[in-house]
Amino acid sequence: MKKLFAIFGNPVSHSKSPLMHNLAFDGLGYEGCYTRYRLEDGDMLAEKFFSLGLSGANITVPHKESAFRACDHLDPFALKVGAVNTIVERDGKLHGYNTDAPGFLRVVEEMGEYEKILLVGAGGTAQSTAVILEEMGYDVSILNRGAKRLEWFDERGFDTSVWDDYRPDARELIVNMTSAGLTDDTLPAPEEILSSLFEEADAVIDIVYGRETPFLKMAKSYGLKSADGSDMLLYQGILAFGHFTGEMYTFDDISRYMRRAFYI
Ligand code: NDP
Repeated sequence: MKKLFAIFGNPVSHSKSPLMHNLAFDGLGYEGCYTRYRLEDGDMLAEKFFSLGLSGANITVPHKESAFRACDHLDPFALKVGAVNTIVERDGKLHGYNTDAPGFLRVVEEMGEYEKILLVGAGGTAQSTAVILEEMGYDVSILNRGAKRLEWFDERGFDTSVWDDYRPDARELIVNMTSAGLTDDTLPAPEEILSSLFEEADAVIDIVYGRETPFLKMAKSYGLKSADGSDMLLYQGILAFGHFTGEMYTFDDISRYMRRAFYI
């Protein structure tokens, strides 16, 4: 019998994950099927997971912290960052992982040899990626619109600033980790700050995918190397698929089929 998987989120109708995972199940001949579920109340996650008879799930905005709380077992990295985007059921227990951050790390490694990285944004994704980048020896600083979310980073010793107290600092790689540009035409920070950053930088990544954001457009006008969030999405999906299938396939095997979701 086929195993059933799903993505939980709200909204979730735009998600590419069902297509990505179904292409990989099909291509690799694995008996699996992946669907989507719009979940309003994150506290219902475990109940829904079991009532749908799922073997595994991905979790997207805004339920990654609820997913963290719903798990019986957490892998050490998910435990450290407090956010889960992948759940696997084993013997009636929920095991939680975070594949967003290692997916993003791979994108950074493929981008080039950079050391000094600025994350613009201080939400859940910035938290997990800042931790993994720091663990890998990168020099990470954070710039955010508001002060509130920077407290988490200050407590962990990161170099942080808000727009008003930002002092120019040369960074090789600048990353948009905000939702600015996702559905509107705003930049993630004031144009003057971005100009001074882009004059010194080599490359940018915008983790928004599927459209050219004002941030990416501006970076390109400075001749910077750039990438959108598609590879991050693909890589977190490949790593999640590995957990779902008990690591039966290599990264490249899964990638061969899952990548097709971006050409359809
Ligand atoms: P959160 O809601 O946790 O955090 C949002 C962050 O964006 C905050 O720092 C907030 O600043 C900032 N922000 C929001 N709007 C603006 C704006 N107009 N101008 C400046 N800053 C703004 O979000 P997540 O960390 O969960 O996700 C961030 C983005 O990453 C989303 O667009 C999401 O879709 C994308 N994403 C992409 C992935 C991929 O695979 N490509 C994976 C995961 C996420 P403040 O504190 O001041 O409110």
